[in-house]
Amino acid sequence: MSAYNNFRKYLRKELDDIQSAGLYKNERIIVSPQDAKIKIESGQELLNFCANNYLGLADNDELIKAAKKAMDTHGYGMASVRFICGTQDLHKQLEAGIAKFFGTEDAILYAACFDANGGVFEPLLSEEDAIISDTLNHASIIDGVRLCKAVRYRYANADMEDLERQLIAAQNQRFRLIVTDGVFSMDGNVAPVDKIYELAQKYDAMVMVDESHSAGVVGKTGRGTTEQFNLQGKVDIITGTLGKAFGGAIGGFTTGRQEIIDMLRQRSRPYLFSNSIPPYIAAAGIRMFELIDSTNELQDRLHDNTSYFVNKLKAAGFDIKPTQSAICAVMLYDAKLSQDMASRLQEEGIYVTGFYYPVVPKGQARIRVQISAAHRKEHLDKCIEAFTKIGKELKVI
Ligand SMILES: *Cc1c(COP(=O)(O)O)cnc(C)c1O
Repeated sequence: MSAYNNFRKYLRKELDDIQSAGLYKNERIIVSPQDAKIKIESGQELLNFCANNYLGLADNDELIKAAKKAMDTHGYGMASVRFICGTQDLHKQLEAGIAKFFGTEDAILYAACFDANGGVFEPLLSEEDAIISDTLNHASIIDGVRLCKAVRYRYANADMEDLERQLIAAQNQRFRLIVTDGVFSMDGNVAPVDKIYELAQKYDAMVMVDESHSAGVVGKTGRGTTEQFNLQGKVDIITGTLGKAFGGAIGGFTTGRQEIIDMLRQRSRPYLFSNSIPPYIAAAGIRMFELIDSTNELQDRLHDNTSYFVNKLKAAGFDIKPTQSAICAVMLYDAKLSQDMASRLQEEGIYVTGFYYPVVPKGQARIRVQISAAHRKEHLDKCIEAFTKIGKELKVI
């Protein structure tokens, strides 16, 4: 009898439980590039309304060209961490590009934002310090905080009275860091970073914002919440991903104060003990920042598309969570209804996902629609039409 036999039985049962609870995640297989229109394995073409491809850059010709060119000039992989022999001119240029975009002092690259968040707290803070975290923060922030010895405080989502209470409770610690997502991905609301910053001033705390869903999206030119609230250069730490609006490939970063970035290069474990991002990703990233800096066309289109879509869906009678991002949560409340609606929409050629407990609170099931600059008006209209048709059919509106 191998030890695995009993373990297999255990796993089988757990997996069956996930399945019978209706929570088993199946992956739909796409056979085309990521775009407004995608093709799935069955041959069906769908309009995609569930990618984080906010600026529509995931199949952008300029980025593909830059990536291909970099393969010729800089090779395919680095086979090294940054501090041994994994730093090329491209990595330094991309870091400079990120800092320039956000108006910060320096930036450090990671394989993903999950790693950026996993590696940001532990090197900076210790048991004498406090981390004050929004309860709806991303899983990677929660994990990163767990790896750090600082005392943990939590405040209810975007609740400034609760944040103030936690700040008061944390006054005896040496240093305080407030951490929040810029945009909360299930509702689409923007964190009140202006008020967070005020409270931070009042109670002597630093501020960290994870701009993964807000960078490229929020603010007139897509610089994120610091642009929206006029706080450029004032937020101490920003983390973000290259895997959403910024081309959608892979890669994450931390950007902010010089000494913080310097310390992360010395002590951040996912940076020190994990491979350097490949040159073609760095090169495409450099090109991407040039592109969105040279014209505001994509950001403008995303903003226009989002307000067009949200207004039309509201006018049709849907219950939409207040949103200041490219995320539009269509509230259905009932878990089964969210699944039925999503699968009926797919039959109509609209690809969206229904979310329900435990991804969102019990009784808060919804369909999350994500808008992109890649969507044309006819795509949006087709989606609105399908929502209206199926919404009536299922008696949602
Ligand atoms: C997506 C996301 C991440 C993870 O980014 P990756 O680069 O895909 O690891 C981290 N934080 C937030 C808020 C996110 O939305």
